[in-house]
Amino acid sequence: QSHFLSPLLQAKMSRPVQARRLEGIDKNIWVEFVKLAATYSKVNLGQGFPDFPAPEFLREALTRALGGENHMLHQYTRAFGHPPLVKVLAQFFGKLLGRDLDPMTNVMVTVGAYQALFCCFQAFVDEGDEVIIIEPFFDCYEPMVKMAGGTPVFVPLRLKAPKDGKLMSSADWKLDPAELASKFSKRTKAIVLNSPNNPLGKVFSRGELELIADLCVKHDVLCISDEVYEWLVYDGKEHIRIASLQGMWDRTVIIGSAGKTFSATGWKVGWTVGPDRLLQHLRTVHQNSVYHCATIGQEAVAQGFQRELMLYGKPESYFVQLPKELQQKRDWLVQSLEAVGMKPIIPEGTYFLVADISEFKSDVPDVPNSDEPYDYRFAKWMVKNKGLAAIPLSAFYSEAHKNNYNNFVRFCFAKEEATLKAANDILQKWKKEKTSS
Ligand code: PMP
Repeated sequence: QSHFLSPLLQAKMSRPVQARRLEGIDKNIWVEFVKLAATYSKVNLGQGFPDFPAPEFLREALTRALGGENHMLHQYTRAFGHPPLVKVLAQFFGKLLGRDLDPMTNVMVTVGAYQALFCCFQAFVDEGDEVIIIEPFFDCYEPMVKMAGGTPVFVPLRLKAPKDGKLMSSADWKLDPAELASKFSKRTKAIVLNSPNNPLGKVFSRGELELIADLCVKHDVLCISDEVYEWLVYDGKEHIRIASLQGMWDRTVIIGSAGKTFSATGWKVGWTVGPDRLLQHLRTVHQNSVYHCATIGQEAVAQGFQRELMLYGKPESYFVQLPKELQQKRDWLVQSLEAVGMKPIIPEGTYFLVADISEFKSDVPDVPNSDEPYDYRFAKWMVKNKGLAAIPLSAFYSEAHKNNYNNFVRFCFAKEEATLKAANDILQKWKKEKTSS
């Protein structure tokens, strides 16, 4: 048919197609490293997802929802969250925060925590607004702030390495109070807090949270609190919700994820909890973009939370069992990494462990004419030569600060015992090769 089209109609588009707001945010660490891991890795401790099954009670709830009598579970549900899910989330978080929550106005369900974050930035950030991001940070915060027209302002956690040869802990990475205060100004609209923090596993202490809260109140700033790892806290540490501190409920959106909470990252069920005054604007973004999340996953997650509400604090609770299991896995990986000469930073929470890799500089070949940071080169070298995949830490830093933090890589230990054993085998073999060379 094309010979009927005039030459004008056949002409290829020549105008620039990309919207300006996408400039400079086209690169994505996961696309590159997920592909590398798929091609080369024997053991993949890169991307953060469990390779063990989601709990049986959750899988059963999904099967019941799928094949049960209620065929309406295959249809649309309420746009801002399936009623059984928002109801139980309101009960659960109401209990945790010690306040009455209205399921219809204080909770909104999202497509994973990712969409919750996206809604926050779109709803609150205007052209020219500044958003403070604590480094290292979950990488999507930066492009999301930029897409909303805002300017990210970065403040790094400063490492105070312990003396006397003790292992480092994620608690050794601290905010400098004066430096943090210096980032707040009239232009600051929001701060993003991620505790427990991906990638370090840092669980912010009450003192640190009070420091952030005081600055938020003083400068009338919002807090976007990404708490997806809220249940994954180790060694008896406590996860403190910044929304529970004085003056903070009114200005905080709490973000959570069933992916991390119930070891089902592929379900992409997330939520926001906060005051109606803030959530009403998230609803505007949600209703004009995603509109509605899959009903069936929401139904199953609702049942998961109903179970957890009943068993709250009891030994059978998944939120009690999962961190116990993960702490053991963390300790195995710490031992394995130490054997080969990496210096692990013991995480207080999350799926992740960051390790110092400065010992290996002479093993990793320089790439001529490349300004690729050492940790990127190391992670690529390790997956190609040893079959072990990890993520370079500088991927979690802004361009300006990347080069100060390129001696570390991040490993995910939310893995089957067999996977961690296979990683240990690789590391033991590597150790033997090192000592014999
Ligand atoms: N925030 C943080 C800190 C994360 O680590 C992740 C997932 N890796 C997310 C948000 C996104 O969560 P979800 O998979 O529920 O979209």
